[in-house]
Amino acid sequence: MSLFSRVAAWRRDRLLRRHAFPDSVWEDVLAQYPFFDRLDDAERSRLRELATLFCADKEFAGAGGLALTRQIQVAIAAQACLPVLRLDLSLYAGWHGVVVYGSEVVARRTVTDDDGVVHEFDEVISGEAMPGGPVVLSWEDVAMAGSAQAPAYNVVIHEFAHKIDMLKGEATGVPPFLPRFHAAIDARGFAAALASCFEQFAAAVGRWEDAGARERDAPRIDPYAASHPAEFFAVLSEVFFTRPADVLAETPALYPLLCAYYRQDPLGGRPVGDGELR
Ligand SMILES: [Zn+2]
Repeated sequence: MSLFSRVAAWRRDRLLRRHAFPDSVWEDVLAQYPFFDRLDDAERSRLRELATLFCADKEFAGAGGLALTRQIQVAIAAQACLPVLRLDLSLYAGWHGVVVYGSEVVARRTVTDDDGVVHEFDEVISGEAMPGGPVVLSWEDVAMAGSAQAPAYNVVIHEFAHKIDMLKGEATGVPPFLPRFHAAIDARGFAAALASCFEQFAAAVGRWEDAGARERDAPRIDPYAASHPAEFFAVLSEVFFTRPADVLAETPALYPLLCAYYRQDPLGGRPVGDGELR
């Protein structure tokens, strides 16, 4: 082991000790969200390690009267780290803030129209991710994750998929490829395949809307995913980790792409590629 990696390992151990959270908090968080059930013991301890390092690196802040607890931080950290379980936290580098509101978040928007007139308005959102800036989340929405009423709704995974996408700047819907994990992926072919999945999904949503947008014929995936390739990547990542069968049913060509990117197969429960936990 080189001196550099020895120092890195020492620093990591120190952070893990300093920011360790109690077993009871961890067990409660794992039990709360059914999509963690598929993880084996090695994956659970890797997730706990990542969540601890995530809490060490990020600055959590409660807003709108929310009293931030360890439970809330760990619940967010664990879900944020699920997509990078077989990748690493470098995908969340370059920013630090996680702002958690108790209930809905009201965001002030400003748009300038074609005549140069500036319009300001308030928009109610469940979460938001800004390039180079913080992630904003509504705890009320975070807590809905994994519930029977909204099994595929996961605002944390959604916003953190945007963060992964934003590692290279603005969100485009094509995530960055890391040489040590994605060497086998042909970036151009992958981007083209993603774009074609998006177009097919958007066309299907368009046909559904033209036919009257009836609830009973609604796609299994939130039609909001058709609004932009970046939303497609975020929404489909959300569903991939929480109701993977829906991704396979609705956009079968996308499922293996997400398996290859995240190096996880939530349906098979088997690691993809060399399967090594790094
Ligand atoms: Zn989004």
